[in-house]
Amino acid sequence: MKITDHIKQADQALFSFEIIPPVKGKSIQELYNNIDPLMEFKPPFIDVTTSREEFIYIEKKGGLLEKKLTRMRPGTLGICAAIQNKYDVDTVPHLLCGGFTQQETEYLLVDCQYLEIDNVMALRGDARKEEKRFESTDGGHKYAIDLVKQINDLNKGHYLHDVIEISCDVDFCIGVAGYPEKHEESPSMKTDLKRLKDKVEAGAHYVVTQMFFDNQKYFDFVKAARDIGITIPIIPGIKPIATKAHLQLLPKTFHLDIPQDLVDAVENCKTNKDVRQVGVEFCIEQCRELMAHDVPVLHFYSMGKSDNIYDIAKAIF
Ligand code: FAD
Repeated sequence: MKITDHIKQADQALFSFEIIPPVKGKSIQELYNNIDPLMEFKPPFIDVTTSREEFIYIEKKGGLLEKKLTRMRPGTLGICAAIQNKYDVDTVPHLLCGGFTQQETEYLLVDCQYLEIDNVMALRGDARKEEKRFESTDGGHKYAIDLVKQINDLNKGHYLHDVIEISCDVDFCIGVAGYPEKHEESPSMKTDLKRLKDKVEAGAHYVVTQMFFDNQKYFDFVKAARDIGITIPIIPGIKPIATKAHLQLLPKTFHLDIPQDLVDAVENCKTNKDVRQVGVEFCIEQCRELMAHDVPVLHFYSMGKSDNIYDIAKAIF
């Protein structure tokens, strides 16, 4: 079922979360161990991220390092299929411009169709760790909007190359990313919002935001989006702080501000258990305020950890 239909049918905020495929060679069981407890809160959908290929260095005889390009966390569609089968829940694979040709994207979309996946997130992806800025893949897309257009074209029956006879409908519900604190590469919030509107006009059906800790930034973002005519659901992305290291890591990676009272409370913690508790309590309050503002969904970034999300969901649902 489409995310937008889940939202239409709901009479209160829904609970959903995002998971990251395991590093290749690891069992899927650990992922299931994280998902199992969260199913108590009946998520209508679970997102599965896609990672780019990155350069890794393998040590050879004599200490020489060999540079190899590899995707360390493959298996997005396989995991979607496994989860749908095991838990009877909709899954949302993330599709990236970076690392995929348009043809490969089409193949993935055909696989999604066979797997009865109704929703996809259309994302550009970040630059590789070694790149200064995002470089598009030969034969791939430059911006998420181009991916949205490709998916929307397929929804209208247009494949990249002529298909002789089309006998089945494809109708993906398309999610895109939004940034309450602006995408790092955008020159201004206004420009970033205009790009978001372009993605919506190209066919996106809903937005999921980057994580944020200050609800006012989300409220302002939604208002500014509505003011320029973006009417589709804007789902807040939420991440509870769980370690002291998050105070540096999250702003560095996701270009966001952490409110001073949360910074102070985390810095005053003596143990990681205390930090986890501070993160949970802050997040419960954050979610309660968001729910009071009628958000459609509370979408959690699990980043491989679910016990704190369980405690938060238990307190608010
Ligand atoms: P875009 O919408 O293409 O925007 C990228 C930048 O280009 C922005 O600054 C935008 O303003 C600018 N821009 C857009 N169009 C134009 C134009 N025509 N001309 C000039 N500038 C333009 N990354 C992963 O690798 N895997 C994931 O699974 C993943 N999941 C994510 C899920 C969510 C909910 C979010 C919020 C992010 C996720 N990301 C993921 C990170 C995402 O890939 C990065 O934030 C990336 O840098 C931008 O992706 P985008 O889809 O927002 O790009």
